[in-house]
Amino acid sequence: MTSTLVADLRRALSPGRVLAEPLELALFARDASVMEGHAAVVCFPTTTEEVQAAVRIARSHGRAIVPRGSGTGLAGGAVPVSDDASPPPVVVVTTKMNAIVDVDEVDRVAWVQPGVLNLDLSRAVAHLGLHFAPDPSSQQSCSIGGNVANNSGGPHCLLHGVTSAHVLALEVVLPDGEVVVLGGLDPDPDGYDLRGAFVGSEGTMGIATRVAVRLTPLPPAIRTMLVDFETVAAAGATVSGIIAAGIVPAAIEMMDSAITCAVEDYVHAGFPRDAAAVLLVEVDGLADGVEEAARLITDIAVAQGARTVRVAAGAEERALLWKGRKSAFGAVARIAPDYYLHDAVVPRTKLVEVLAAIADIAERYDLLIMNVFHAGDGNLHPLIVFDRRVAGTLERVRLAGGEIITACVAAGGMLSGEHGIGLEKRDYMGMVFSDADLDAQARLRDVFDPTHACNPMKVLPGGSRCGDLQHVPEGAWV
Ligand SMILES: Cc1cc2nc3c(=O)[nH]c(=O)nc-3n(C[C@H](O)[C@H](O)[C@H](O)COP(=O)(O)OP(=O)(O)OC[C@H]3O[C@@H](n4cnc5c(N)ncnc54)[C@H](O)[C@@H]3O)c2cc1C
Repeated sequence: MTSTLVADLRRALSPGRVLAEPLELALFARDASVMEGHAAVVCFPTTTEEVQAAVRIARSHGRAIVPRGSGTGLAGGAVPVSDDASPPPVVVVTTKMNAIVDVDEVDRVAWVQPGVLNLDLSRAVAHLGLHFAPDPSSQQSCSIGGNVANNSGGPHCLLHGVTSAHVLALEVVLPDGEVVVLGGLDPDPDGYDLRGAFVGSEGTMGIATRVAVRLTPLPPAIRTMLVDFETVAAAGATVSGIIAAGIVPAAIEMMDSAITCAVEDYVHAGFPRDAAAVLLVEVDGLADGVEEAARLITDIAVAQGARTVRVAAGAEERALLWKGRKSAFGAVARIAPDYYLHDAVVPRTKLVEVLAAIADIAERYDLLIMNVFHAGDGNLHPLIVFDRRVAGTLERVRLAGGEIITACVAAGGMLSGEHGIGLEKRDYMGMVFSDADLDAQARLRDVFDPTHACNPMKVLPGGSRCGDLQHVPEGAWV
């Protein structure tokens, strides 16, 4: 059966862009999460027409489709899974759809294919004084299509907003192969905002094949500050104090003591190893406003007990500080081979309380948990660092993760700030949504994908009208 599927795909694309050997399939069985699945075949279209052909061929063979960008997702969104009654799905990878199709520097809009890497787009338009504002820490490797599907954020989304605020229109191949355009270049297109429904749909409503993104001017002036504290509470109070003063910095990132040491060992940027917590705060805009905001932030931090406020002297030092923050997950590879990153959001005022609860969970489960996160948004990233080869560890990681989510929800939080629900968190959806809410979401998905052919078993839990499995299969946790 699979051989005719592979042959049909090879005829429609090209033999070199359709992979079906076991080792090749293994490379696309996972994303950057701790989940694993199995694909029947992996294909690499280069055009909308080829995506359309791949989708139609997959469907004619009774296969589901799993859209995939760079595979940096942290919630198992691109992991190919199927229930016991269905054959493995076809993975449609967009990495070869990496053309910047058109840049309109006057209207500040670019049409791009979905496989364009986030940072490549910003680099390509930098000479025009523009950039793509959402900046996930994975921006060197994640795709615009993945950003759209996960409605991704990043450190600078505190001021500029997450991906949804920067997507104007989308060309989408629907799960039945039809091509549609959602949204438009007008500031306020008529009709329902189906673009908005698609952004954040995590590959369950079709495959984005072209995206019209808003380009944002590069700020004329920037100040980047590294502020360090003797207590986490003082750092948390500074975050609340900055926002309460009416200042919205471009970014407020927090790192606890454990991750600060790991980062310093990795990048040698002068991060203080003896701090209980550090804040990386950046303000941007017109020079006068930036100076004033930086002065006010310094005053607030000092009033809360900051030990030092280091202001980056120039672009080089600023880049080094950000390299430290954005390499944090890479830095932990020096400590242990595996990590499991959570992504819950809590009210800013609850940050310190929830961080204390996480420290307690770490102690009870005898796990190393580090915290590096978007403090300005209340978007926590508890990072469980472990070695899955040690018997019983993965089970402790799972249980501790469940308790972290429970603590965040109890504090008035949500399951995900930016990484999405994917496969990993779908069974937690009932903690934050009622059956009626979940049913409404399932009905919306059905409008795009009535047969659940696109990225099955993701986002929505089974058991209601979605028809998926009740639980994530045990084998998906690796
Ligand atoms: C070190 C590291 C740091 C990270 N930092 C951040 C961060 O700061 N902020 C943040 O938000 N995320 C972050 N992430 C998570 C991840 O990089 C983002 O979710 C990113 O947007 C995923 O893009 P991708 O191309 O890798 O998508 P994939 O992982 O390939 O796919 C993600 C989801 O998108 C769907 N998808 C992909 N392409 C399409 C398409 N064309 N059409 C429809 N659906 C599609 C997939 O089915 C899947 O559900 C980080 C990840 C890592 C490993």
